[in-house]
Amino acid sequence: MSHQGMDSKTNKIIVILTGAGISAESGLGTFRGAGGLWENHRVEDVATPEAYNKDPLLVWRFYSMRRIQAANAKPNMAHEALANFANEEHSNFDIHLITQNVDVLHQRADRFHRLDPICMHGSLHQSRCTSCETVYFDDYAYFDLEGNYAPQNTELCNADQKASPHYLHHYKLDYRNFLPLSPCCKQPIRPHIVWFGENPMFMEKIIPLVQSADLFVTIGTSGVVYPAAGFLEMAKINGAKTFCINQELIPQSGVIDVFIQGSAGEKVPKFLESLKNLS
Ligand SMILES: [Zn+2]
Repeated sequence: MSHQGMDSKTNKIIVILTGAGISAESGLGTFRGAGGLWENHRVEDVATPEAYNKDPLLVWRFYSMRRIQAANAKPNMAHEALANFANEEHSNFDIHLITQNVDVLHQRADRFHRLDPICMHGSLHQSRCTSCETVYFDDYAYFDLEGNYAPQNTELCNADQKASPHYLHHYKLDYRNFLPLSPCCKQPIRPHIVWFGENPMFMEKIIPLVQSADLFVTIGTSGVVYPAAGFLEMAKINGAKTFCINQELIPQSGVIDVFIQGSAGEKVPKFLESLKNLS
């Protein structure tokens, strides 16, 4: 990277894409890594619009479990380092975070709300109305980890989100067949998650961001889930210097300038520290 003069006020744009690998050290394994099965259901069979239409209670049992697991996990050194980097004053960097993760760990590490990740696959602490698609903060689990109906708060939402007019207070809601109805349309709510066969969210924001990157960094992504897998190449074609932090090499090695092999918890803090020395 060239040395920037003190008189230059043009900030470098650093765009970071994170995947499941960044949460591995928080104890949240990928479902694929665990054989892709949940109670003898293929994950593909419970995380689809068809599954929800057929058996919403089954789908909500799956997502109740995932909400509880996410709530029990803690942000690790990689999440903390990214949040700290965004919260410090770096005169030479504008940081943007895109995540494929729905586990809310980036947001929970980001106590001052400076990181504001773009959650392209949705988020476990949100639900939406199946009729008008209004999105709500919702950290309720309807079932416990054993699959028993046991409505409970998971505390995945922070104080600001709980104070939002779009936070679902379940004691105020009407229920039908054990599941709540949306306040807006009195229709069922579903997890605000991109299911198999559905399109990622916020692509209209993400594409220009990736194209504008001076530095593009992937952390803990397998490089096989599209469209995210194409972002490295898109950034590279548009002139970004590209970095990849991962345990294993990923299929896009031809468009990676710097590959940093290792765990996110160890490598991400060091990498961000090295960026500071450039500024
Ligand atoms: Zn509605």
